[in-house]
Amino acid sequence: MSNTSSTRKVIVIGAGPGGLASAMLLAKAGFDVTVLERRDCVGGRTSTIEADGFRFDLGPTFFLYPQILREIFRMCGRSLSREVDLIRLDPNYRLIFGGDGQQLEATSDVPRMRREIARISPDDANNLERYLDDNRRKLTAFGPVLSSAFNGLRDVLRLPFAELLPLLRPLSSVDQDLGRFFSDPRVRLAFSFQSKYLGMSPFNCPSLFTILSFLEYEHGVFHPRGGCGSVTQAMARVARDLGVRIRLNEPVQRILFEGQKAVAVKTPTDVYGCDALVINADFAHAMTHLVPDRLRRRWTDRKLAKKRYSCSTYMMYLGLEGSSDDLAHHTIWLADDYRAHLEDIEKHHRLSDEPSFYVHNPVVTDPSMAPPGMTSLYVLVPVTHQHPNVDWRRESSQFRQTVLRQLAQVGLEDVDRRIRFEKVVTPMDWESDLHIYRGATFNLAHSLDQMLHLRPRNRFEDLDGVYLTGGGTHPGSGLPVILESARITTRLMAEDFRIEPAWEDVAMAAPRPVGTYSRVA
Ligand SMILES: Cc1cc2nc3c(=O)[nH]c(=O)nc-3n(C[C@H](O)[C@H](O)[C@H](O)COP(=O)(O)OP(=O)(O)OC[C@H]3O[C@@H](n4cnc5c(N)ncnc54)[C@H](O)[C@@H]3O)c2cc1C
Repeated sequence: MSNTSSTRKVIVIGAGPGGLASAMLLAKAGFDVTVLERRDCVGGRTSTIEADGFRFDLGPTFFLYPQILREIFRMCGRSLSREVDLIRLDPNYRLIFGGDGQQLEATSDVPRMRREIARISPDDANNLERYLDDNRRKLTAFGPVLSSAFNGLRDVLRLPFAELLPLLRPLSSVDQDLGRFFSDPRVRLAFSFQSKYLGMSPFNCPSLFTILSFLEYEHGVFHPRGGCGSVTQAMARVARDLGVRIRLNEPVQRILFEGQKAVAVKTPTDVYGCDALVINADFAHAMTHLVPDRLRRRWTDRKLAKKRYSCSTYMMYLGLEGSSDDLAHHTIWLADDYRAHLEDIEKHHRLSDEPSFYVHNPVVTDPSMAPPGMTSLYVLVPVTHQHPNVDWRRESSQFRQTVLRQLAQVGLEDVDRRIRFEKVVTPMDWESDLHIYRGATFNLAHSLDQMLHLRPRNRFEDLDGVYLTGGGTHPGSGLPVILESARITTRLMAEDFRIEPAWEDVAMAAPRPVGTYSRVA
């Protein structure tokens, strides 16, 4: 192993969290790194919209499990807490059940949470600790799976199935698995709506993902001061400090190949040669637009069209006159017939009249998000990804009215009158402006047939010298695992270039205890 990598040129396409984390780690390892970003800012979906003194997160608002980012900063010799002010919320969020208006303040304080559940279902309250213990075991067992590379079936076969299968329960959905602890459907929803973070319904999302709500209870929900975009800005700052060149307004139009090997990328202004390429741009969009179809085998245009994709989101970013102090930082309103709303999204691909929705009101925690006395409101409604059934050019203004009407359900009666700034993003916009395949904001779905080695691999299997990072590759969508994908990818690259990275605190940089199955271990 050598440590002379400075001549190794790496291009990273996209400055989303996956691309930035990869750039940081690669630069620290000694690679010569250039990030090319088509937009005028870093962060991708994890960026902040700033307008008329209001600030809105574009995408993520829940910052969970900061441990991974903390470790990445540490590997680069930096301290996350010095760069970003992470505010832990308590309660984590407020749930409102559409049917009876019952509310639940979700908190990581176990005795309080037990009391919250008891108000809805006393029997279920007694099972909270059992749910937490079960998921603690699950996360411990699956943590190594989520932090290791899966380059093929061989890596999967090395998994300690005897230990994992009883915890995985592969035939159960999140909702069914929660049925082992909670009988009241509302309580189950409180622990399962989080599968929407993956853009999936808890009624078909694999039971592994009960760990999502567990992560919130065990490790907390954080608000980065200034919004989630301040996290990606800090990452860009550190990356630049480590020598990374970040070129904004520099869209990659094509990847150039010699045979199967990526040798350069072309932008409107330049051609950038490279020894290796990291793609952080939305996987399916990048493949279908930047790589000739004939070079791909597993991920051809035809095969991509047949894959399953996550839902999309209809977004409203509203700058409102006046404060909204009674509204929690995070509020999730769950439709009485939650399952029907999900079926509208995933099965019928149509819009619901009374959709579930989520509202972000960060000013109650962080006054920097709006001018004094004003409110910056982010409204997210899960909807079908782009589908011929819904033409957003026709539906958007009608759906806007539906959403404004729905806001009354969380006590916001007169929003229309208070609007001083407004921006709407539909699935069509996610696709055309943000370059996300079918506007599926959470990438390929996380069904078992699209996970591990069956997901596009970190060392991309169809091309040479190409690596993937971000929500489209293993382990999947959601910030903690996206950051983990950067770690997996950069370890693979270091291995392939026979470089011993100069990452600090190497004990932390190695995959956690994994038994014998991880190829990168
Ligand atoms: C509405 C919404 C809410 C979400 N909420 C949460 C949440 O609360 N918590 C959570 O953990 N996760 C959440 N996510 C999911 C996920 O964490 C984010 O989407 C995350 O930003 C995805 O990161 P990424 O690295 O995969 O890529 P992206 O953030 O998509 O970044 C990819 C980058 O590539 C650039 N790019 C694309 N094509 C090119 C090209 N040809 N040339 C150059 N650059 C290019 C893009 O402009 C973009 O900057 C949410 C996502 C959305 C959309």
